[in-house]
Amino acid sequence: MKESIQILQACEDVQESRLVFGTWGNVSMILEDGNIIITPSGIPYDELREEDLVVCDRDGKVICGKQQPSSELKMHVAIYNTRQDVKAVVHTHSLYASIASSAFREVPLLTEDAAMVLGGKIEITNYKSPGTQGLADETVRCLRDVNAAIIANHGQVGVGPTLEDAIFAAVMCEKSCELYTKALSVSKNPRFLEDEEISDLRKIYVEHYRKLRDFKE
Ligand SMILES: [Zn+2]
Repeated sequence: MKESIQILQACEDVQESRLVFGTWGNVSMILEDGNIIITPSGIPYDELREEDLVVCDRDGKVICGKQQPSSELKMHVAIYNTRQDVKAVVHTHSLYASIASSAFREVPLLTEDAAMVLGGKIEITNYKSPGTQGLADETVRCLRDVNAAIIANHGQVGVGPTLEDAIFAAVMCEKSCELYTKALSVSKNPRFLEDEEISDLRKIYVEHYRKLRDFKE
């Protein structure tokens, strides 16, 4: 199945991007039939094999696979069932997102690249226990129509129409958290992008990006 290969490749990419530590974090995508393929619980990324991946329906019921699906399956299901534009989800415990997840209530955007990829400032959930429906609902609420959210005292999630986009969103979320943390340490009054500026930048990115993608196809 070509999607299994894409998921395994995505696991390698998130490790190389230093977005994950150990077995924490998980990756999923929507299959052509609408079901969800997701990484299993508790297997280190570099030991993952195609047969370890799990396929679930849109209610989170396991259809295929010998392993337990990721413990954050409820969150992946909730995102797909709310955001029709999202076909891939990457959840990580990256360093600066984890700092932001306990230090701030939201992360404003400082740079145009993050505005283009994420499409809005990054909101942080209220604290909910890992693996619960409460965490899933909070994550969906904070995502709105933006491509990343931070999960309180836990980590972050990046989403997108492809796995590549979801990883890029997670990378931009991590970068934004690092920039915000460091900007606050050198300036009392850093300039953040306004909502209107962010939506203008996002519009430019979507129009330009789609054109590039159409050209490639
Ligand atoms: Zn987690």
